[in-house]
Amino acid sequence: VPDRYIWIYDTTLRDGEQAPGVHLTPEKKVRIARALDEAGVDIIEAGFPANGRSEQKAIRMICKEVENATVAVLSRPIKSEIELCEDILSRANSSRLHLWIATSPIHMEHKLKLVPDDVMERTMVGIRHASGRFDSVHFTAEDATRSHLDFLTDMMREAVRSGVDLVSVADTLGCALPEHMTLLVQHLIGAVKGRVPIGVHCHNDLGLATANTLAAIRAGAKQVDVTVTGIGERAGNASLEQVYVSLLFHERHLKVKTGIDRDKLGSLCNLIMEEMGISVPLYQPLIGENAFKHESGIHVHGMLNNPMTYEFVDPKDFGISEGGFTIGKHTGKAAVRFFLERNGYAAAREEELNRLTEAVKERTAEKGPFLTDDELVEFARKNGIELVRRGVV
Ligand code: MN
Repeated sequence: VPDRYIWIYDTTLRDGEQAPGVHLTPEKKVRIARALDEAGVDIIEAGFPANGRSEQKAIRMICKEVENATVAVLSRPIKSEIELCEDILSRANSSRLHLWIATSPIHMEHKLKLVPDDVMERTMVGIRHASGRFDSVHFTAEDATRSHLDFLTDMMREAVRSGVDLVSVADTLGCALPEHMTLLVQHLIGAVKGRVPIGVHCHNDLGLATANTLAAIRAGAKQVDVTVTGIGERAGNASLEQVYVSLLFHERHLKVKTGIDRDKLGSLCNLIMEEMGISVPLYQPLIGENAFKHESGIHVHGMLNNPMTYEFVDPKDFGISEGGFTIGKHTGKAAVRFFLERNGYAAAREEELNRLTEAVKERTAEKGPFLTDDELVEFARKNGIELVRRGVV
């Protein structure tokens, strides 16, 4: 029985929108926030107020619309910016300030142009200024996975002393391995002596964002940053749907649970793609067009006997549409029979079915896959295959 609740911190509207080429109007941001709220996300990072007026307007609108989730905004540790965030979040049922600063040598020297002591000082002044102005405040060390562990640890301990409710580490460049995240989270839990929970923010530059996020959860992280479809800077962030389905599928092993509403997952992903004007690769886990689609003869044969042979979950349980089968050069007899029967036909004899299967494989090897069932019936007729009428199954 799952006994540990994980906070899903969705940053589709902030890190997701930072993806090159993605732009959301305030109206689109509100529609997405509403869907995230309905899907059971715990915290919605609505934006970065310092971005400008349109962003501020969108966040104010979101605060009025969101009923259950906490609304978070991102801020640098600058007093005027924190006060702007306080004003913008004043209508939220539950408000969260997300303060961040970079802690790696390369970021401090070449981006912030600050020495570590000044990074520490500024951050703590910011945290103390923010404390009490929001329902909760969390602090993220940017580029934490390329930071000196001693400095990172000092920052986290000081952040806790200065009043944050959670400390989070970002694998900003997406270059950590799962075992690094495990060690880092375990180390930080010890460093803050369990006084505040730990969060993680993982990027996907090595395709490890989901794996790193799961490793962090296993190590004791309480909050995980995700985006729907994994959209985000560069190669994106940990994807909400991958993290969630992994946790659900392995819940007896991991003993954790989330507040995500299973049925709404597919429609949430579709909404994000539509509002953002993006598509995902054919083979994207869980939501790509091929994620639940089959062509290989052996796989289709298995699927027709029992879908669980080649699908570990039923996509319909998640509101994700069934992928179905394609007829192509890898097709076998079982699929050809199935497609004929779906159209109310059968091959007159087993030998005719064999001939049709061979012809289909030859045709599709040369010219690509069939698109529809109708094309198969038409193709059979043209090739002189004898079919008989059957009831439609
Ligand atoms: Mn990020």
